[in-house]
Amino acid sequence: MKVLIADAINEKGIENLKEVADVVVDTEITPEELANTIHEYGGIIVRSRTKLTKDIIEKADNLKIIARAGVGVDNIDIDAATEKGIMVVNSPESTSVTVAEHTMGLILSMARKISIADKSVKEGKWEKKKFMGVELRDKTLGVIGMGRIGSQVVNRCKAFGMDAMAYDPYLPEEVAKQMGVELTDLDTVLKNADFITIHVPLTPETEHSISTEQFETMKDTAYIVNCARGGIIDEDALYDALVNNKIGGAALDVYEEEPPVDSKLFELDNIVLTPHIAASTKEAQRDAAIIVADEIIELIKGNNPKNVLNMPRIDNNTYQELSPYMDLCEKLGSFVSQGINGKIREIGIIYSGELAEIDNLEILTRNVIKGVVNPFLSSPVNEVNASIVAKERGISITEGRKDNVTGYDSLINVIAVSDDDTFSAEGTHLHESRILKVNGYWVDVIPKGHMFIAKYEDVPGSIGKIGTKLGEYGVNIGIMQVGRDEKGGRAIMVLTLDKEIPAPVIKEIRELNNVYEAIGLNL
Ligand code: NAD
Repeated sequence: MKVLIADAINEKGIENLKEVADVVVDTEITPEELANTIHEYGGIIVRSRTKLTKDIIEKADNLKIIARAGVGVDNIDIDAATEKGIMVVNSPESTSVTVAEHTMGLILSMARKISIADKSVKEGKWEKKKFMGVELRDKTLGVIGMGRIGSQVVNRCKAFGMDAMAYDPYLPEEVAKQMGVELTDLDTVLKNADFITIHVPLTPETEHSISTEQFETMKDTAYIVNCARGGIIDEDALYDALVNNKIGGAALDVYEEEPPVDSKLFELDNIVLTPHIAASTKEAQRDAAIIVADEIIELIKGNNPKNVLNMPRIDNNTYQELSPYMDLCEKLGSFVSQGINGKIREIGIIYSGELAEIDNLEILTRNVIKGVVNPFLSSPVNEVNASIVAKERGISITEGRKDNVTGYDSLINVIAVSDDDTFSAEGTHLHESRILKVNGYWVDVIPKGHMFIAKYEDVPGSIGKIGTKLGEYGVNIGIMQVGRDEKGGRAIMVLTLDKEIPAPVIKEIRELNNVYEAIGLNL
C-alpha cells in the first residue's frame, strides 16, 4: 500500500510503517497537490494541518484509511469518507498517560506549594515558613470519572501511598475493582477526599457540576484539579471557595474561556494554573504516530484497526432499507441510557414486523449501542467501536425478533436494565423517528432536542404542578404526552422542551408530592 504522511509526525511511526508500506513523506503538500495526487494512495496520515475535505475525498479512489495522529478530527469530512467506504482512525489513548502525569504535577505543586515558592525565590525572598506543605502519603484521592485518564491517575497516586475512591455512575463495580478503586457516590467523594481530580467529559450533566454546593461539601483542606474540560468547575464559585478558604487549593489546566482573560483567579496564591498543556508531551506525539501507523499496519495485514471512527457503507440495498432506522436506533439507545436509574447492565433490542425479516440487523444494533454509551463518554464512539466500548463497560447486548406487529410496518423496542431499574422505549420510523411507548405506556413523541420525563402518581393536580414548576423557570413545553397503567396508578409524562431544563428545576420537581422521578434528556 502506498501511504502519504501529509503532516509532520514522529519518526518512529514512519519507521514502523516503512516495513510494510511504500511511504511518501510530504508535510508541505498543498490542497491542490493533494487533490491531484490523492488517488495514488491507499492510506494517509494527517495531524491538523491537512484538511481532508469532501472535494479531496471524492477524488481518493484508492484510499482505504485516513489516520489522524491525535484526537480531534475536525479537519476530516468523516461523512464523505464513510460514503466513499474509507475508514477514519485516530489515537484517543495517546494522551492518557501524559494528562495523568500533568495531573500528578499539579497535585504535587498544590501539596508542596511549588509554583508560588518558585516565584518567591525568583523574587529574591526566602520564605521557608510560608510554604509548609502536606504529604500525599495516606491521603485520599477522589476521582470523578474513571476512564482512560482517571484510571492512570489512580495508578500513580497509589505509588505515593494514597487511598483512592471514585465516582463514575457509568462504570461497573467489577471493572472499577480491577482498576484498584472503590466506587462511591459523588457526595462521599467530595466529603472524604483530600485531593479531588476531574476526568469526565463536558456534558450537560457535568457542566458546572462542581459549584458552590459541592465546594461547601468538601473538606476545608481539600485540593481540586481540573485537567478535563473548562466549564465543569464553576469558576466564580471556585474563586469564592478559594477566597473564603472553603477549600485548601486548586489547579486548572482548562478554563471556561480559553485563554482566560483578566480572570480574578489570577490574583490568588492558592491556585496553580497551566495553559491547557496537559496533553502536550513529545511522548504523546510519538505515541499518536505509532498508534496510527500500527492501525494502518493492521489493515495491511488484513486485521481490523481498533480506533475506527466511522463504518464503510454496507451493501447498497440493505443500506437503503435500514438507513431510516439508524437514527431511530441511536435515539432509542440515548433515550433509555439517559432515562434509566443506575448503571446499565443489559440492553435488549427487539425488532418486530418487516425489519425482523432482514438477515443482518447488526448495523442497527450498533447504532443502539452508540446511543447508549455516547451520553457518558468524552470521545464519541461510532457504529464500529460501540460494541467494544459496551463490552468494556460490562453491558451485555441481546437482540431478538418478533414477526407480527399491529398498525406499523416495523417497531424497535430497546430495553435497558440496571441493578435497580428497567426502562424501555419503543419506536418506529414514520417520516422521522418517533417514540411510541415508554416503559410500556403509549406516548407519541419525536425524540429530538431537549426532553423531560417524569414518573408520578396518577392523581388530580400532578400534571399541573409539574407544568407550573417548568413555567416558573421559563421553560416552555413543546409537546406533552402522558401515559398511565390504570386510573390512579403509576403514570409517565414525556415532554419536549424549547430549552434545556436547568438542574434546580429537575430537583424541585423531584421533591413534589406524588412525583417518583424527574429526568432531563438531550437527544
Ligand atoms: P474517557 O471517555 O476515557 O473517560 C471519561 C469517564 O467519565 C468515563 O469513565 C465515564 O463513564 C465517566 N463519566 C461520564 N459522565 C460522568 C459523570 N457525570 N460523573 C462521573 N463520571 C462520568 O475520557 P478520558 O480520555 O479519560 O478523558 C477525560 C477528560 O479529559 C475529557 O474531558 C477529555 O476531553 C479531557 N482531556 C483533556 C486534555 C487536556 O489537554 N487537558 C487532554 C485529553 C483529554
